[in-house]
Amino acid sequence: MIPYGSHSLDQDDIDAVVDVLQNQFLTQGEQVPKFEAALRHATGARFATAVNSGTSALHVACMALDVGPGDMIWTSPNSFVASANCGRYCGADIDFVDIDPVTRNMCVHKLEDKLARAAQHGMLPKVLIPVHFGGLSCPMQEIREITKRYGIKIIEDASHALGASYNGQPVGNCAYSDACVLSFHPVKPVTTAEGGAVLTNNEMIQHRVIQFAKHGIVRDKEHLQRPIQGPWYYEQQQLGFNYRMSDIHAALGVSQLSKLEAFTLRRQHLAKRYFSLLASASLTLPDKKGLSESAWHLFPIEVSSQKRAHIFTRLQEAGIGVNVHYIPIHLQPYYRGLGFAEGDFPNAEQYYSGAITLPLFPAMTDEQQSFVAETLDQILSG
Ligand SMILES: *Cc1c(COP(=O)(O)O)cnc(C)c1O
Repeated sequence: MIPYGSHSLDQDDIDAVVDVLQNQFLTQGEQVPKFEAALRHATGARFATAVNSGTSALHVACMALDVGPGDMIWTSPNSFVASANCGRYCGADIDFVDIDPVTRNMCVHKLEDKLARAAQHGMLPKVLIPVHFGGLSCPMQEIREITKRYGIKIIEDASHALGASYNGQPVGNCAYSDACVLSFHPVKPVTTAEGGAVLTNNEMIQHRVIQFAKHGIVRDKEHLQRPIQGPWYYEQQQLGFNYRMSDIHAALGVSQLSKLEAFTLRRQHLAKRYFSLLASASLTLPDKKGLSESAWHLFPIEVSSQKRAHIFTRLQEAGIGVNVHYIPIHLQPYYRGLGFAEGDFPNAEQYYSGAITLPLFPAMTDEQQSFVAETLDQILSG
C-alpha cells in the first residue's frame, strides 16, 4: 500500500535517538532546548516552545492568550478537529469562517463580512485560528489587517506548513500573528513521533506558554510572588499542565529538522509532477499558486461528489492509500451537539463532498507517483 503520507527516517535519525537512550537525560536534558533553537532558526520566530503534541500546543497557545469561558474562537471548518477543540478545552465557544473554494483556506471576504456582523451584535471572537490547509499559507497580511481593527488575536495553525513560505518569508515567523503552532505527528513536514511547538515573537506570551505547558510552575527569581525560601523554591501560580516534550522525541526533531529543506523541495517536486501528470484528468487540482510556496503536506483533489466514494474505493483496491481531508468540523456529532448543522458552511461542505487526498511524502518515488496518476486516470475514464 502506498500511504497518503509518511515519515522519512534515515540512520542519522535512529542514531540521534539511540544516543539519547544510551548517553543522555531522557527528559529535561539538552535536546529540547537544542530543538527549540533549531525551530527558531528554521522559522525566524523569536521564541519556540516544544510540547508533546500539536494539540497541546494549540491548547497552551489559547491559554497564553487568556481564552476562557465567555470568549469566542473562530477557525476554519476545513481542518482537523484539534483546531477547534483547543478553544473548547478553555471553555470558549467556537464558530467557523467558511473557506475559499480555490485555496480551501479561510476566506478573507467571508471573514471580513462575518466580523462586521459580529461587531454589531457584540459577538466578536477573542482569537482567530487560521489553518494553513495542506501547507499553503493563508493570506496572513490581509487577515492581520482585518482583525486588527477589532483587537482580535491570531494563532496560526501551521501544523501542515512548516517549510512553507509566505511573502518570501518562512511560515512560523509570526510576522502577522501572536503565535503559531506546529505539529510533529509522523505525517507532518518533520516528525518527533508525537510532538508540537508554539512559536511567538511576544515575550509575555512566551512566558505564559512555558508556564501553562509546565504545571503553571515558576522558578526564575524575578517572577516569584512570595519571598524565596531557599535554592529549592518554586511556585505554582496557575493551573498548568505537563505538556513537556521528552529528550528522546526532541533528538529526533533536531535530526529531522536538519532535513526540512530537502523534504520540502521533494514535496514541491512531486506536487509539480502531479500537476503535469493530471493536467488532462477530469478533476480539480489544488491552487497552483502554491507550487513553490506551499509545504505540500497534502495533495487534495476534487472529483464529482456522486463518484467520490467509487473512485476512493477503486484507488484503495489498487493499493493506493488515499484519505479525505477534511470532514467539516462543524458536521462532527460533537459540534452538531453544540448547534451546528448542514448548510452552515457551504463551501467547506461542497469541497468535502468531492475531496480525495492523493499520496505525497518525501520518500515517494516518481514511479509510485506515476502509478497513482495512471490508476486515477483509468478509473476516471473507465
Ligand atoms: C495534526 C494537526 C493538529 C494536531 O496535531 P497533533 O500533533 O496530532 O496533536 C492540529 N491541527 C491540524 C490542522 C493538524 O493537521
